[in-house]
Amino acid sequence: MINHLLIMKHMYDGKWHKTDFEAKLDAIMCPCSTGIQDVHHIIIDCECTSHLLNNWLLQSEEAMVRLISNKKLPESHLHNFMQLSDTQKISFMIHRPYVSKGSETLAHEYGLTAQSYLKSLTDFVKTLNTSDSISDPTSDPMHAH
Ligand SMILES: [Zn+2]
Repeated sequence: MINHLLIMKHMYDGKWHKTDFEAKLDAIMCPCSTGIQDVHHIIIDCECTSHLLNNWLLQSEEAMVRLISNKKLPESHLHNFMQLSDTQKISFMIHRPYVSKGSETLAHEYGLTAQSYLKSLTDFVKTLNTSDSISDPTSDPMHAH
């Protein structure tokens, strides 16, 4: 689970159901302003975090290359992986590491890269949502009127 997501922060607020639609949208809209900041957005769609996703996928590919060069993984695994979209790659790493030779080592590698990705994402989202440079002071309820 990713802490600090706007959608988590606000939807579990007791006053949430009394908030009007516009205010709700404002509260959970991602600072990148391309979508509501939920788990899917922050991992797949967010422009602010895409470098972290790319970095995760790159780390996973590097781990595969390492295992292939140690003959612990068939080359076809990486080849198949490269054909996938980002969303499919994520799903593949979560659900499919146990399909081939070297699966245990690979699952371990995937676990490590996922862990470091989630940590960097959590840290980044926290900074993103508290950064002054991207917030619009007119939308701050503390300073309205
Ligand atoms: Zn975003």
